[in-house]
Amino acid sequence: MKKTIVLLPGDGIGPEVTRAAATILRESAHEFNHRFEFQELPIGGAAIDSTGKPLPNETLDACRKADAVFLGAVGGPKWDALPLGKRPESGLLDLRKGLGLFVNLRPVKLLEPLRGISPLKPERLGDLDLEIVRELAGGMYFGERGNITEKGVERAWDTESYTTPEIERIAAFAYTRAESRSRRLCSVDKANVLSSSQLWRRTVTAMSAVYPSVKLEHMYVDNAAMQLTLRPSQFDVLLSSNMFGDILSDAAAALAGSIGLIPSASFGSCAPLFEPIHGSAPSLAGTDSANPIGSILSATLMLREAFGLALEADWAEQSLQRVLASGFRTPDITEPGARAVGGSVFTEILREEMQRTFEHAERYGWGV
Ligand code: NAD
Repeated sequence: MKKTIVLLPGDGIGPEVTRAAATILRESAHEFNHRFEFQELPIGGAAIDSTGKPLPNETLDACRKADAVFLGAVGGPKWDALPLGKRPESGLLDLRKGLGLFVNLRPVKLLEPLRGISPLKPERLGDLDLEIVRELAGGMYFGERGNITEKGVERAWDTESYTTPEIERIAAFAYTRAESRSRRLCSVDKANVLSSSQLWRRTVTAMSAVYPSVKLEHMYVDNAAMQLTLRPSQFDVLLSSNMFGDILSDAAAALAGSIGLIPSASFGSCAPLFEPIHGSAPSLAGTDSANPIGSILSATLMLREAFGLALEADWAEQSLQRVLASGFRTPDITEPGARAVGGSVFTEILREEMQRTFEHAERYGWGV
């Protein structure tokens, strides 16, 4: 299989975790005889420094032509004083818009060897395995905003707004996802207060007739945050607006043990985008202590969801489980008795484990 992949390392720990993802993709291509062509381009603060813009045209054009895009993270204190539309983060928002991405899928799954580092007791944690389907192209992050000063008082506002078609297309994705899992869908809103949430709830409810096998439940976002912490295993697929999904997925990530563990995939009208859900963690940049697992799992999501390479993705993920079971840990997920390593060493150990398993599988069959 031949694929073109654009890598956007970005800022802070972005370049480190992007290297980890690329290592796993290269290893998969090497062992399974695929041809992945990589093109690395600037975005975010790095792009502001080199071109003056957080999303250069060349970067967007290359992403539009690619089969898949991988992003590390953007942002950092160096660019915090810039006005909102000129900051590194607006490069990512513009990229999502430019690629027509409206679905953000965030799988939150317990890695069994890490059960002990979850802040939840094992009996509460259960078999944590849920997917957050977050609307990505609308809502508060793209709504009308402003800032004025009247009679010496400053006022600022942002607007949450959704149309029926915007809700229908994200809900259709969530229903389909639920159909392929345990057929339970929980739609999260704030319909007791927000008009946009009332439209959200009406639209999602109306669509349930099209997906009769899926059991639909509605939940207010404040209750959803509490229920996630009390009993996460009650959820299978969670559907939410842009902002609610952003917040809930960080909370859900903490249940797995670290924000550095969680991958994401975004889909729309052009190339899909894969990225760990964490930010650029400026204080960790250059220390090799960033956890690369969220990035690595974003790469396996790419293999499975963008290229249909399930065997390659399973092989990498099972190798990862074995590396963790051997006790190797980055600082954010360390435990007593763990074998502490930096992110780059962890990735190298994983690559060697993938090679070892591949040779074993070739010799004895894929049942390993
Ligand atoms: P963050 O995700 O960068 O960091 C939150 C906390 O998690 C920090 O304590 C950090 O050290 C830790 N952390 C994050 N990733 C980790 C990893 N891989 N391994 C171990 N620990 C990790 O969020 P923040 O501090 O709110 O934001 C920092 C910058 O990142 C800001 O400029 C923000 O705008 C940007 N940001 C970017 C994205 C993105 O590029 N998609 C997402 C969120 C935040």
